[in-house]
Amino acid sequence: MTSVIPETSTTTSDPRAQSTDKPRQPGTCADWPGICTEAESGHFDHSNHGHQVVDKSGVQLLDVGFAALSNDSNPRPVIYIGSEDWAPDEFHAASAAVRQLMDTGDDMAERTMLRQGNGEAALARIDQKIKGERTRMIAMVAHQRRVRIELRPSRTPFTESDTEQTASAAFSLACDAVGIALAKSPDKAGMVRALRAMVDLYADEASA
Ligand SMILES: [Zn+2]
Repeated sequence: MTSVIPETSTTTSDPRAQSTDKPRQPGTCADWPGICTEAESGHFDHSNHGHQVVDKSGVQLLDVGFAALSNDSNPRPVIYIGSEDWAPDEFHAASAAVRQLMDTGDDMAERTMLRQGNGEAALARIDQKIKGERTRMIAMVAHQRRVRIELRPSRTPFTESDTEQTASAAFSLACDAVGIALAKSPDKAGMVRALRAMVDLYADEASA
């Protein structure tokens, strides 16, 4: 089984991977706060290494990290996957492609399980994946909200608890989903009735 728990990386000649023990928490770096994990005061080489996926024997399959090195003539920060660097604004296209590749792998695994007569287990995996993605989406919406607030410091700071953040993000996603469902449904009136019944049920629960 492939582990996503970061472990000590294998030896590599890549200078960016020189200190890849377990990923450290971003520290007190003044240049790249919340990103750089270099702890030494007054450091010039900024980085965040050690995020990796390993194979069954613990050998690194893929790693992701951040580097902004002072020995470059034009020290621009990069996000890397393996040995390839991307500018931060280019990275999302790369990460989307990797994610899509993993979806292809999941699809292959599920089809193979079906073919092997293991359909129920395949369905359970898909169910698990949907739950995971839902949690990820909620976290992403909460993250988006925090970034929005950070962009407008004059506005109210984000003081909600984690639970409140999750609730707001899930609510916002639910509203989006309802909008899509209504836009796509051939029976909008029926869907609105079903929605109203559901809301009534929740209203009863909330006032109970
Ligand atoms: Zn730094």
